[in-house]
Amino acid sequence: MTTLGDSDPDPTDALSPLPSRSATGTPVRGRLRFCYGPMDCGKSTLALQIDHNHARQGRRGLLLVRHDRSGEPRISSRIGITRQATEVGEDTDLRQLIRREWVAGRHLDYLIVDEAQFLSPAQVEQLAELADEVALDVYCFGIATDFRSRLFPGARRLFELADELQPVQVEVLCWCGVPGRFNARVADGEVLREGDTVAVADTFSGVVEKKNSPPSETESTTIRYQVLCRRHFRLGDLGPATPRHGQLRLT
Ligand SMILES: [Zn+2]
Repeated sequence: MTTLGDSDPDPTDALSPLPSRSATGTPVRGRLRFCYGPMDCGKSTLALQIDHNHARQGRRGLLLVRHDRSGEPRISSRIGITRQATEVGEDTDLRQLIRREWVAGRHLDYLIVDEAQFLSPAQVEQLAELADEVALDVYCFGIATDFRSRLFPGARRLFELADELQPVQVEVLCWCGVPGRFNARVADGEVLREGDTVAVADTFSGVVEKKNSPPSETESTTIRYQVLCRRHFRLGDLGPATPRHGQLRLT
């Protein structure tokens, strides 16, 4: 088990110039929230809406993204709204990133993190620390499980540490009409059960190992994702007509 800040010899050092108490001396705490749902459920749209609502109240925030589907450091929703964001790298220390903002005179009240499932567990712990120690409100948006229906490591840590967990309410339906919770990875009309877990959205290369080929032989094929209910995910049943309208298609 690791504890917060284990990897850092002095975790408070990164945040020491920042106040952790209000003028009256009572501890100030931010909240760490995780809003999660399957692909196409409107998470990025909700992220931008929350940013808009806070900004309108005069609060100052920072938008962060890990692997945005656009390939650019920005939060882009599928309905076309886009906002510049700061890309979080694999080794980015989020405490240092926030500290640099403060040192540059940019006070922050909240953070919005899109594609938060791709954060490392250590980065999620840094977000918890920012909420506790410098009273940042942190809103994370992401997918809970990968195409194998296993929790992403970052999502798992968020489930463990977040103050609030909120399923995103915009329902994505399986082809059968039941709310879909699983992001199936599909190639050649089959649900794939193995492969690189990091590939979820358009970042996927589209190269998979063909079932009946020697292990060394890979071949380009069409990869897409389809949201399924648990039953049809279990059965690998993609329904009568695939691909269906509105589903992401990757080539
Ligand atoms: Zn179904």
